[in-house]
Amino acid sequence: MRLDLRGLQISFAGLLVVSGAHYLGQDASEAGCLRADSGSSGPAIECSPDPLNVAHMVEIKAALSIFGIDEAEVRYRGCQKVPFETRMKGKGYLISYQVPANNNGKQLVAPIMHELAHVFQAREAGSFLALLKAPSLRIELGADFLAGLMSANIETQIPLDILQEDVVLVGRYYEKEEGAHGTPEQRNNAFRLGHFHGYKTFKKSFPAALKEFNKNLYGSLLN
Ligand SMILES: [Zn+2]
Repeated sequence: MRLDLRGLQISFAGLLVVSGAHYLGQDASEAGCLRADSGSSGPAIECSPDPLNVAHMVEIKAALSIFGIDEAEVRYRGCQKVPFETRMKGKGYLISYQVPANNNGKQLVAPIMHELAHVFQAREAGSFLALLKAPSLRIELGADFLAGLMSANIETQIPLDILQEDVVLVGRYYEKEEGAHGTPEQRNNAFRLGHFHGYKTFKKSFPAALKEFNKNLYGSLLN
């Protein structure tokens, strides 16, 4: 069983065997960077466990700590050709990333913060599946917003404009249309809103910031 819920491809655990093509995400009409599925692995996909060691990056460790996510809950894999995505895997989450051509792991900091934001959003929503009931655009711009907010709360040598540029790597390889993640302008605005507005307003309360985003800020990004 495969549902298309407002542009987000969702596969439910226990109900579905995911086809290889679906899993690979080569169909450009697929629109999500987060999904819940049976955890079955597709064939012919070149991945290895966290080849760029993002789990040990100081920025990622700091983000996990601030989001309140246990390090053991999240595993990473790097692949040659795969969209960034977060999926449920067992009791935790598996985050996939595309290995940059230059092997520069620092390029992954902002995209991984976006993916970790999905884990945080799922917890705040009650579950991953509960989160997926929200409009995909709100989920994705919310993750960019949270990544921006996170960028103002961790110590990093990476300049803000580079982080802002990198965060849109999520989705870029995946979509012909901009609907699911938002236009580059909307995404930049969401990230900057988190970085500048959120830090002062929310005093590091990420749950409060997310509530405010969903209630008021998201709408302002669409205007
Ligand atoms: Zn996303």
